[in-house]
Amino acid sequence: MEPSVEVLDGHEAIVGRIRVRRVLPQRKLRTVGAWCFADHMGPVEVTETSGLDVGPHPHTCLQTVTWLTDGAVLHRDSLGSEQLIRPGQMNLMTAGRGVVHAEEAARTYHGTLQGIQLWVAQPEAERFDQPDFKHISQLPQVEFGRVVATVLAGNFLDVQSPAPFGRDLLGLDAIIKPGTTIFPLRADYEYAVVALDGALDVGESTSKPGQIASLRIGRDEVAISAATSTRMILLGGVPFPEPVFMWWNFVGRNADEIGTFYREWRDRGERFGEVDSTLDRIPAPPPPWEPIRSTPAR
Ligand code: MN
Repeated sequence: MEPSVEVLDGHEAIVGRIRVRRVLPQRKLRTVGAWCFADHMGPVEVTETSGLDVGPHPHTCLQTVTWLTDGAVLHRDSLGSEQLIRPGQMNLMTAGRGVVHAEEAARTYHGTLQGIQLWVAQPEAERFDQPDFKHISQLPQVEFGRVVATVLAGNFLDVQSPAPFGRDLLGLDAIIKPGTTIFPLRADYEYAVVALDGALDVGESTSKPGQIASLRIGRDEVAISAATSTRMILLGGVPFPEPVFMWWNFVGRNADEIGTFYREWRDRGERFGEVDSTLDRIPAPPPPWEPIRSTPAR
């Protein structure tokens, strides 16, 4: 019997000043391969006073992938990068031992903003490397069935993304014309489908924006159907072999590590640099397991 597709509801969150639909991680689905986080941003109208606008904040041991379908966002980071990103381009930031960035939309762009931000957990051997930022202005496309797809990460139908990742994984932005398309899959990968602008039938299940359809390992294909032209993200990879401990903007392996990152951000330690942004630095909430720092009585 064909393994079933499990459709899970994401939840709404506010990032900067906009609403996002966070479909990963969740209790029943922590990772898809090395993909450990997925925020579907917008669609939302960016005005003079309302946009993504996420002030300087840190990351560790992960790569961030920013991919827009509409709009523009200005990225600034502690490496000195300043990069406007538009649809069809990718911003890929590798945090390694620690990096800080800001994502600004208001005062940069007016109009509809929509996209997805994804995080990739870095493998043990690379997770404390120096941070890096790459802007990839062009990504290859592949056509098959009723689909035109952009290969964001990894290799699909012999088309290779130029984006460097620490692990073998797949990221695909696919626009499906009405009808059914068979997507070839690797049996050693687990996969997830995120519908961006309409409902999709993924195998026997229906998945809508705000949900994630999870496909466990062992499949060599999946049929995906759309009633109207629909855009989706396909994520895949070999199940991540190491424990991933995520809290706030940090990826680590355990609470002690995350506690160290938290204190270094709070105390402006040397791990995290400075970002030239007009937005305010975002303080980390204290981790629930961290002792409250009390002021001595005298
Ligand atoms: Mn970030």
